[in-house]
Amino acid sequence: MDQEDYKERLNNDYYHVEGGVINIKMKQHMLVIIMAGGKGTRISKLFPHIPKPLIPIQGVPVLEREINSLVSQGFSNIILTVSHMSEKIVEYFGDGSRFGCKIEYYVEETPLGNAGALFKLRNRIGSDPFLLLNADSVFDVDFNRMIKYHEDHRASVTLFTHPNSHPYDSGLVITDEDGSVEQWLTKEDKRPEYYKNRVNAGLHVINPKVLDDARIDIDKIGSVDETTGKVVKVDFDRQILKALCGRHTMFCYDSPEYVKDMGTPERYQQVCDDFKRGIVNGKNLKNKQKAVFLDRDGTLNKYVGFLRKPEELELLPGVAEAIKRINESGYLAIVVTNQPVVARGEVTVSGIQIIHNKLETLLGLQGAYIDALYYCPHHPHKGYKGEIDALKIECSCRKPKPGLLFKAAEEFNIDLSQSWMIGDGKNDVEAGQNAGCRTALIGEVNCGQDMIVNSLLEFVEKVI
Ligand SMILES: [Zn+2]
Repeated sequence: MDQEDYKERLNNDYYHVEGGVINIKMKQHMLVIIMAGGKGTRISKLFPHIPKPLIPIQGVPVLEREINSLVSQGFSNIILTVSHMSEKIVEYFGDGSRFGCKIEYYVEETPLGNAGALFKLRNRIGSDPFLLLNADSVFDVDFNRMIKYHEDHRASVTLFTHPNSHPYDSGLVITDEDGSVEQWLTKEDKRPEYYKNRVNAGLHVINPKVLDDARIDIDKIGSVDETTGKVVKVDFDRQILKALCGRHTMFCYDSPEYVKDMGTPERYQQVCDDFKRGIVNGKNLKNKQKAVFLDRDGTLNKYVGFLRKPEELELLPGVAEAIKRINESGYLAIVVTNQPVVARGEVTVSGIQIIHNKLETLLGLQGAYIDALYYCPHHPHKGYKGEIDALKIECSCRKPKPGLLFKAAEEFNIDLSQSWMIGDGKNDVEAGQNAGCRTALIGEVNCGQDMIVNSLLEFVEKVI
């Protein structure tokens, strides 16, 4: 072990001194339960004799890639719940020693619903929080970061949530201002006219107490109910998670990391391409990210002066197409905007949320999404009627100051020198420069930018 490795282990692991010798003791990482029983009916046309978790991507089974990623992050205690072609999965992964971890199995003979196995494993799980991952999707996630979020929020459940390219026909998660889940809408439920593009990805941190609180009779699971004549199953989302809405105990962890369903031949092809281009691993937040920071008014939507109502927000031509290409490129798309209308008392915080929901809804209808949005609600000049005193300050986030970009860089591990800021004003160019980004201006007057373009789409065609 060289010095760097050693330092890293000291940072990562608990250690103690015993008789003058430092014994490094590996930190006990969380138990991971991976639900790997999915049949994958549509994808199985391509691979009729292989269970979905063993479908290869560039020669390596998808579940092996996920396990490798988990092991590299210190997770070595894994339970697989298996059913369809379970013997092939057990034969391939064995006790896990070949992959540097310990693997146990729960083999489901009759389908128990996606949470039945959890209850059958209840004693094995113990009392500490665990990771519950759905192997129907392909993922590469910095789980330690997600667990820290779970702990910081004292959550009983944390859902990994993300924007996707088809929110209009996806289930949606709607949160309160503190990030806790208020509503869980299925794709059939009536949704607000404008909504945030936030979809549950099937990866969770769970405190086992929520299983106990659900008061499900474990002995009955898998048996035939006498009144209905059907096998008793447990649906995790419907019976366990939805019951936690509105109780400020289940939180959303919004992340731009790679989680995609590969359930159809087209999606499988997309996932293979993304692996080849290094996007799947690259988007793990352990790795430095690159971003395109986007100004809002005059860059994404038509400039109307102070925009105060959702009706005034109208996307500029080509913007959705441009953002879609940013989404596919591996760059993050992050909006940074000055909104002094909040300090001026003209738009409330929830009012501006509706305006931003409209932005996300319109983009979503065209298959595009933003990874995050930061706005500065402040304004420095006092003395106007109706203003919010506390927001009338000299802040560090109002562009041309770089505060919003710095905040995004911290939250998403962004390398600012590999990133771009694009906008239609001098403030945008200067904010980008102050943050150490390359800059592009939509317009004509020289502001010292690196590149001048007529539209966001032209920028994307040149750079991305
Ligand atoms: Zn500010």
